[in-house]
Amino acid sequence: MVKERTINGENKMCNACFNDKKIKSTTTFTIDCNGSLIVVKNVPCMECERCGDILYSDDVSQKLENIVEEAKARSYDFSVVDYEKATGIEKEA
Ligand SMILES: [Zn+2]
Repeated sequence: MVKERTINGENKMCNACFNDKKIKSTTTFTIDCNGSLIVVKNVPCMECERCGDILYSDDVSQKLENIVEEAKARSYDFSVVDYEKATGIEKEA
């Protein structure tokens, strides 16, 4: 499961500081699954202008879960996945 808090849409208030101004950004998502480290680069997100809290849209968090599931299935100790490449491949499948 994706650990980070997810939120619907892009214009919701920040859960951390209740600021409603967010900027579009990309981040590196990292998750530790039973000792396997999975790193997903170039993940689109909304970043709180005030406190830097990261929010993912439903669409992005769903794709992140798919990427993590695929990476877990390969069961490497360490996986680095590019979000853009991973979601591109997904569309063709
Ligand atoms: Zn905030």
